[in-house]
Amino acid sequence: MATKKILTKKSLDFFEKYLNNAAPTGYEWEGQKIWMDYLKPYVDTFITDTYGTAVGVINPDAKFKVVIEGHSDEISWYVNYVSDNGLLYVIRNGGSDHQIAPSKWVNIHTKKGIVKGVFGWPAIHTRDKGKETPPKLDNIFIDIGAKDKEEVEKMGVHVGCVITYPDEFQVLNGDKFVCRAIDNRAGGFMIAEVARLLHENKKKLPFGLYITNSVQEEIGLRGAEMITQTIKPNVAIITDVCHDTTTPMIDQKTQGHTEIGSGPVISYAPAVQNKLRERILDTAETNKIPFQRMAASRATGTDTDAFAYSNGGVASALISLPLRYMHTTVETVHRDDVENVIKLIYETLLTIKEGETFSYFD
Ligand SMILES: [Zn+2]
Repeated sequence: MATKKILTKKSLDFFEKYLNNAAPTGYEWEGQKIWMDYLKPYVDTFITDTYGTAVGVINPDAKFKVVIEGHSDEISWYVNYVSDNGLLYVIRNGGSDHQIAPSKWVNIHTKKGIVKGVFGWPAIHTRDKGKETPPKLDNIFIDIGAKDKEEVEKMGVHVGCVITYPDEFQVLNGDKFVCRAIDNRAGGFMIAEVARLLHENKKKLPFGLYITNSVQEEIGLRGAEMITQTIKPNVAIITDVCHDTTTPMIDQKTQGHTEIGSGPVISYAPAVQNKLRERILDTAETNKIPFQRMAASRATGTDTDAFAYSNGGVASALISLPLRYMHTTVETVHRDDVENVIKLIYETLLTIKEGETFSYFD
């Protein structure tokens, strides 16, 4: 399996469709439906919860439960204020980046469907060259072509509408995947691919596998906090994205050194259970899967924290996909890393035994 390519035309078509669909935090269900559709042949059943988290389950009757997890939501904006002359001011829904907003097209989600808009910006000619004002949350604004507040209302746009970017999946130089929301639709994609491989290779697991696509990660791990109480897992392997720190203006002394194309990134952090992490590292070495290391002081900032610190403590670990330009519309990952994260999760699962505690005291 180490030499065979994992991604197929069918899986990449799914990835593209899943990426191109907007699933802003709090509004993930259409994306979840696309994801569940793809996953359906490879699982026995599904669990869904009130806020939209979806879980594909293999061996639902098993007592010992292992989670593999990604998050389904993407960063977006909320309409926060409409000016008398019909311009929209925004607040964040997740860590949306004010610096990249000017001159971007946006989709405003309304009851009547998508309303198009643009983030405007004063022309270079009209700005004070000696004192350039950077884009900030309080000076970026969206123009939807309305002449005043009344027309905005008539177009179905109001305070509370969510706003996403329309940027779609593209491939750069053959093996770099570029899109908005690869954070963390890649996660949902990779865990679904693990389920597909288990099915295609006819692997029987001695435990229940919970392929979990959590909502609301971008605003503080909320979906994971909810679903871990429902599943009550024994083990959780989380996958999310982390930074490629080799592009300009990133300080490696504070941010560490990780990069695309060099393999999955394995985290050291208090929330990461050491024995489970060592199992993942051993698995990578045994199967000649390249990997990188990353350290986090205190929180990992990922759903790992939510699983680890639930239910009296769940053995949890984090395998990250290195990514360039996080929270922009051109998030970039390497195809090889995507395949190697899938491989590493898959091979690690095959080593986990029913009832394994990962105890430090055995
Ligand atoms: Zn994110």
